Amino acid sequence: MSRFDRAAELLDLEPGLYKVLRHPEKQIIVSVPTLMDNGEVEVFTGYRVLYNTSRGPAKGGIRFDLQVTLEEVKALAAWMTWKCAVVNLPFGGSKGGVVCDPFKLSAGELERLTRRYTAGIIATLGPDSDVPAPDVNTNERVMAWVMDTYSMHMRHTVTAVVTGKPVEMGGSLGRREATGRGCMIVTKEALKHLGMPVQGTTIAVQGFGNVGSIAAQLLQREGCKIVAISDKSGGYYNKGGIDLSAALAHVKQHRGLEGFRGGDQISNDDLLTLDVDVLLPAALENVITSKNASKVRARVICEGANGPTTAGADSVLDEKGIFVIPDILANAGGVTVSYFEWVQDRGGYFWDEATVNNRLTEIMTRSFADVLQLSRQHKVNMRTAAYMLSISRVATVHRLRGIYA
Ligand code: GLU
Repeated sequence: MSRFDRAAELLDLEPGLYKVLRHPEKQIIVSVPTLMDNGEVEVFTGYRVLYNTSRGPAKGGIRFDLQVTLEEVKALAAWMTWKCAVVNLPFGGSKGGVVCDPFKLSAGELERLTRRYTAGIIATLGPDSDVPAPDVNTNERVMAWVMDTYSMHMRHTVTAVVTGKPVEMGGSLGRREATGRGCMIVTKEALKHLGMPVQGTTIAVQGFGNVGSIAAQLLQREGCKIVAISDKSGGYYNKGGIDLSAALAHVKQHRGLEGFRGGDQISNDDLLTLDVDVLLPAALENVITSKNASKVRARVICEGANGPTTAGADSVLDEKGIFVIPDILANAGGVTVSYFEWVQDRGGYFWDEATVNNRLTEIMTRSFADVLQLSRQHKVNMRTAAYMLSISRVATVHRLRGIYA
């Protein structure tokens, strides 16, 4: 919220609107009783927060993780609001989560948990009200269960209630790769802006999931050199460049990078302070902090994850002259193609992959330019500029609609 406050101050936001935008619209907490394979019942806790719906249906992922808390979901739902506004999608922002360790659940347990959670939050779900998507530890299969559960309750198939679905049931081509592709596009824009070549640019990527692994592959294809990757098991550094196909094959076989021999082992913290041109944190929140920010040596940080940098680290990175592409811009490629998926579902007409990718490139490039222009105009960093742009868009709609009292 300190970033929100700073942008609100620069925008001279009126006090009433400031108060409205500082609060989530709706917070739902549900108990999720789940029948386990051993015949016993476990009760998990689930959340769904609709932060703001002034610009359109709430939009945001669902994560399954032991770290999930209501506070975290609220912050993530607020970020979704600013993210959708920064790339100018007609959506508000939301987020959901269930406190669980999905790696310890069988496929059957995961399905029952997903369906019961969906039933618990069903009153807010819908193509016109709240549209979930994948996030940390959820995927296409989980989205298929959400869609099916919702459809069973509605008594007809509703594809547009969720995005990030399998392509066979109304998903969009290019959605799976979209967040990583968006990171690649804005990283190239940043390099262009800074007068740095793409060829040979060295990159360290934290996180080898849907965002990090795809961003790494696409950036390598553009001529960059990925010198370090990591996942929960730690980091792997190779000065000559990581063999990404070997890393992907390893992950496929072992469900993670543990035991990967294609680089020297380093810790996740070491990865953040490597001497590279670009740092791409694509795992969890709060990894670049006021404690380690002074040791970051990259020239550019592309925030593939949501909230990888704490507010306390921002000024340290600024002082060092590090160009940060903030999360609400850098990882907006995912929700942008979610928007395309929702549009395709509602129109019942599906686009080819080239159309999806071209439209994504258009939106990401334009949004990067919009934020850069604002940052120059107000002499602020890219993060503050992104907040200013998105808050002013949301505020404008609130002013037009008025407060219903
Ligand atoms: N979970 C992704 C994010 O944080 C995607 C959200 C969506 O597509 O709705 O941006």
